[in-house]
Amino acid sequence: MPDGGSFITGQSFPALVLNADFRPLSYFPLSIWAWQDAVKAVFLDRVSVLNEYEAEVHSPTLSMRLPSVIALKEYIPAARRPAFTRFNVFLRDRFECQYCGEGRPTHDLTFDHVIPRSRGGRTTWDNVCTACGPCNLRKGNKLPRECHMQPRQAPRQPTSWELQENGRAFPPNYLHESWRDYLYWDSELES
Ligand SMILES: [Zn+2]
Repeated sequence: MPDGGSFITGQSFPALVLNADFRPLSYFPLSIWAWQDAVKAVFLDRVSVLNEYEAEVHSPTLSMRLPSVIALKEYIPAARRPAFTRFNVFLRDRFECQYCGEGRPTHDLTFDHVIPRSRGGRTTWDNVCTACGPCNLRKGNKLPRECHMQPRQAPRQPTSWELQENGRAFPPNYLHESWRDYLYWDSELES
């Protein structure tokens, strides 16, 4: 096992992690591992290396180029029911307020209970939707028909596949060129 020590300064060399079917384990957030974890997985024989950075790690006995794209050897099935989390609700709604339609960064988004909790509404997939602060405030404790604010899409539980597809619409902040083929392979085939 090479010990990278502190040879890398200012660069993190993340590895894109693909499932055994060569599609990203997750699109959003994009599945990436720190190089330390990627190298460890290579040595444990859990992943195949599909692409590498120029940068190398050295140990007294060997040197190794850092993997930039790795694929799991064992397929991990997507959870059939996505977890009901804050993030997944935003992802289902594509980070857009369901009342005014505006897209916003996560920290500007809130939840709205379509039927307010004070009126018996529950915190479930089909009663919670993404809302911006101003819309949430405007809606307050009113029912949709009382304030004429209907969510653009009736909230419901998404499938894991739908969340994955929504996630693909959001390009990651960091994108190494060796990742492109794995992230956009079907769009390139179309063009
Ligand atoms: Zn809004």
